[in-house]
Amino acid sequence: MDLARYRNIAVLTGAGISHSAGLPTYRGAGGLWTDPRLAKLSDVNALVEDRAAVCDLFWSFRRAIEKVDPTPAHRALAAFEDQLPRGTKFQIITQNVDGLHQRSGSKNVCEFHGSLCRWRCDECTTELEPPDGDAPVHCGHRMRPSVVLFGEMIPTDADRAVKQALRDCDLFVAIGTSGTVEPASSLVRWAELNGARRMLLNLEIFDGARALFTECHAGAADDLVPQWFGQRDARSPAVS
Ligand SMILES: [Zn+2]
Repeated sequence: MDLARYRNIAVLTGAGISHSAGLPTYRGAGGLWTDPRLAKLSDVNALVEDRAAVCDLFWSFRRAIEKVDPTPAHRALAAFEDQLPRGTKFQIITQNVDGLHQRSGSKNVCEFHGSLCRWRCDECTTELEPPDGDAPVHCGHRMRPSVVLFGEMIPTDADRAVKQALRDCDLFVAIGTSGTVEPASSLVRWAELNGARRMLLNLEIFDGARALFTECHAGAADDLVPQWFGQRDARSPAVS
């Protein structure tokens, strides 16, 4: 079945789509936040208690991201978006903070948990994409990463964009996320209210997923995403 026939497509991505890039995962088994010291630094309170350590830690993540490339799954989504008919809505909603969707060429990306590519100043609210080198300083203070730390709210504009995308979607695909925990489980329920086709592409299909999704496919994102979003039908040659 050709996914390009849908007119309003929302795609949710989680850590599983970036896994093969070589980045460590955050939550889940073996994730960075299973280390109590690192988990403490990912909490909003740590910004007050040990700002330098928080900024250093996230700057090291930012440096790690520079060294990796988008995966075949990221690239397949970007290529799919490129060939959609005019007027089709295609919104990526990502829980990842690595910026790899944008680097692969995706245009409509809502970063639900912010991005390590952007840093902001608490003093004057300036936000920028710092160049390589040392961690950025603004107004005489260390800038903080524009990511959602534990204890912080989802940014209002991201929340609004997600609800907008889900309101009318006729196809919802969750990739590299269990699909059964928040916020993914809420998103799939909203898609269900619209009567959307709901697909889960994930390494493991957890209990409960089959009740939420109309179909579940187990496998690596790099296999499943090119398979489902690849241009399996050759496009008509251009008329000259
Ligand atoms: Zn400033």
